[in-house]
Amino acid sequence: MEAPTTPPDDRFTPELVERLTCPKEYNLKGMIRELGPLPPALATSTEQHRPASPISPPPSPPCLSSLGDLECLPVELWHMVLEFLDAQALVRLAQTSHAARLAVDALPVYCEVRKHMPDVLVALSRTRMLRHHAVAQLRAVLRDSRCASCFGYGGFLLLPTCERVCFDCLHENRALRMTTLGNVRECFRLTTKQMETRLPVFYTIPGSYGVRWHKHYPNVHRLINVRQAKALAITMHGEEQTKKLLAPTKPGNMSIRKYHIFQGFHEASLTPPGKDLTLLPTPLNWVEDDFGGVASMRMPYLDARGRMHRGRCCRGCRRMKRMFSDGQLPDDTVSGLVPDGVDPNAVLDALVTRLYSDDSFIDHVRDCFGVQQLLSFWDEGHEDEYQSD
Ligand SMILES: [Zn+2]
Ligand SMILES: [Zn+2]
Repeated sequence: MEAPTTPPDDRFTPELVERLTCPKEYNLKGMIRELGPLPPALATSTEQHRPASPISPPPSPPCLSSLGDLECLPVELWHMVLEFLDAQALVRLAQTSHAARLAVDALPVYCEVRKHMPDVLVALSRTRMLRHHAVAQLRAVLRDSRCASCFGYGGFLLLPTCERVCFDCLHENRALRMTTLGNVRECFRLTTKQMETRLPVFYTIPGSYGVRWHKHYPNVHRLINVRQAKALAITMHGEEQTKKLLAPTKPGNMSIRKYHIFQGFHEASLTPPGKDLTLLPTPLNWVEDDFGGVASMRMPYLDARGRMHRGRCCRGCRRMKRMFSDGQLPDDTVSGLVPDGVDPNAVLDALVTRLYSDDSFIDHVRDCFGVQQLLSFWDEGHEDEYQSD
């Protein structure tokens, strides 16, 4: 009697999943990173006053002080009120009294945010974005895996809009870009005062950044998100008037590059495309992003079962890209991946940088041509010639 065949999913043991995950993520390094610990003001009183040794004296008993009007409410209700404050407001509230400090420290939503995304809080603080996002909003993004643009898995946070996004949408969707206040003034006829009072003004952290092309930024830049700028322009001028702000042909005193950038800003959609933009032809007026990666960072995902996902890149896809560059990828595989009129390099580059949650990774590797190639190699006892990648 024949042994029952193994169901296909059982092949992908945790060990094999690890082996199929790219160990190095060269292409994903051009974002905000390595910022150090939480500043003292954002740490809880427990975190700030952690005993230096087991024999340290116990902390002093809390002095009695009031929570003000919040004390009239049941605890669930004042938790709901506090969740809609931003972390900076919570910090200020915590400084008003000992009781307020204990209340903020014990707020479940804030505890979850501090525990799972402390580096995000540091980045929001350093880029002056903290006051723009309620802690409930941060927690919602932590618990929702979808890219706000294509609805696939999003492994990054765009700080000014507090949206989860994927690497490819950061590159392809011009609504997610950042630009200078000067460009917004010229492109959308908004004043500095309008921007400063109505929009989050993002302060960059000097360093090297890039989504596809890396660049060094030694100075701090004040930037605005393009979609937010366009939405404010429509509010201020009306939709039809906003369209007329872009001349139908390039003005004589404007460079062609700048005109194309402004065209891109006007064409940026205020609503999410809801599809993979890497499968569409590149627009003729395409200009690379001047500030790619400066306002985004890796974002973990906390699923309903309490598991943390950092996102996995597929090693098989990386192998496919190398095979394509070497002319070794079969034509029918290329035509199955790349729609007519689209640059195959762009599609394969996107596969190399795509992140998956643990569950969607299994779905992907089951069908990935590069993974099937790797498994054949390994079954035959060979190593992948691109293993060093
Ligand atoms: Zn996306
Ligand atoms: Zn793959």
